[in-house]
Amino acid sequence: MTLIYQSTRDENNKVTASQAILQGLATDGGLFTPVSIPEVALDFETLKDASYQEVAKLVLSAFLDDFTEEELTYCIDSAYDEKFDTPAIAPVVKLGDQYNLELFHGSTIAFKDMALSILPYLLTTSAKKQGVDNKIVILTATSGDTGKAAMAGFADVPGTEIIVFYPKDGVSKIQELQMTTQTGNNTHVVAITGNFDDAQTDVKRMFNDVDLREKLLAHKTQFSSANSMNVGRLVPQVVYYVYAYAQLVKAGHIKAGEKVNFTVPTGNFGNILAAYYASQIGVPVGKLICASNENKVLTDFFTTGTYDKKREFKVTTSPSMDILVSSNLERLIFHLLGNDAVKTKALMEKLVSEGEYTLSDANQAILDMFEAGYATEAETSAEIKRVYDASDYIEDPHTAVASAVYQKYVERTGDHTPTVIASTASPYKFPRVAVEAVSGQAPADDFVAVKELEKLSGVVIPKAVDGLETAEVRHKTVVATSDMQKAVEEYLGL
Ligand SMILES: *Cc1c(COP(=O)(O)O)cnc(C)c1O
Repeated sequence: MTLIYQSTRDENNKVTASQAILQGLATDGGLFTPVSIPEVALDFETLKDASYQEVAKLVLSAFLDDFTEEELTYCIDSAYDEKFDTPAIAPVVKLGDQYNLELFHGSTIAFKDMALSILPYLLTTSAKKQGVDNKIVILTATSGDTGKAAMAGFADVPGTEIIVFYPKDGVSKIQELQMTTQTGNNTHVVAITGNFDDAQTDVKRMFNDVDLREKLLAHKTQFSSANSMNVGRLVPQVVYYVYAYAQLVKAGHIKAGEKVNFTVPTGNFGNILAAYYASQIGVPVGKLICASNENKVLTDFFTTGTYDKKREFKVTTSPSMDILVSSNLERLIFHLLGNDAVKTKALMEKLVSEGEYTLSDANQAILDMFEAGYATEAETSAEIKRVYDASDYIEDPHTAVASAVYQKYVERTGDHTPTVIASTASPYKFPRVAVEAVSGQAPADDFVAVKELEKLSGVVIPKAVDGLETAEVRHKTVVATSDMQKAVEEYLGL
């Protein structure tokens, strides 16, 4: 049986896993989504002793069922290696009454590494399977984090090239250095004199430029995207929920079969959706708690049934969750509506034309699995302090949002089901916020904050930030927005 992915907006648009990965987005604007849930034998008495790579193989072979075992082994072993600073890949840490699942041990110390370290291999393997032997060029506009994580994943991957555009004055010093010091002969970083929207708009234009596409094809090259709607980013995220559950069994915190809750700091809804798929293949889940910062559009959606993006955009200390349109929610909506593409398409079009939609006739059993809450900036900072005082452990602001929402959930409901907090970034990624929350004093700059953080937490400074100040800057190109395409053509020798 070949597991079929279908577009959320057209029931006739069905593809295999490798086709879904290669295409990225469906051409009808929808997202490829599994319409039948694969059967996986999850025996936690055995799985508790499995390595991360072994769990990955089990989960990926179920969801990516047109890949051979050999292909998956190659992808998994290439992705989850010494790039991670611990052989556990995603360790679970007990902090008081919660379990933090640390998803930040990869090259850019944030959870995007979990999927972006394997996507390049899934993408090039998919291309081969589809008989495409063009070079795959990843074109990305970034406001700071995704571009770096994508480059770290694609650096020196055979058959790929990656070009990242960022706004010259729109990223932090650390973020800029992380990008401009990127190694790899196939990586290209370009600062533009415009803002993020300018960069994003011109990247989209290049994707849709027919003349450019033909020019690329003549050079046996094609564009592809590494964005979070790609099935190749979603499926690898299911792995760590299965792995976390197995680790809890192994440590004796739960018995196999006992339910756990997952609390996930949410932006684009990709990470928590992966937790939902983990529950569907058999991880015993009580509640999936969707945690937001002050951009609480998802909290309101789960509370009222209305998704309303017509609101003020707030800049918070958890920037990766500053999102008003959560793209991956479309997949859950599709499932909530009984996999009905016509109804899903209508709601998504309503969101564009009217800025809101209201769900009706949704699957109650699925809805009942979800809980939602948000944390204010003050609550987030107070939670970093609370956890530090109680456990000598420093959470990053995104993780602290989830942690705060979880603590409020327990107070409200009295539900003491063992709960895993998806810990999405290292505090070293947001050192000033973390140090200020703990010590009450704002460090002068990020580099001072990094040293303070090491003293306070006792956690060794990770490779990703250590030495950044003195690393060789390899990428110095700055262009006007109008010259972005020229830069692409030069890099690719068109
Ligand atoms: C991307 C990101 C999130 C949000 O994840 P989604 O899958 O977009 O919901 C949360 N925390 C951090 C640190 C992130 O980088």
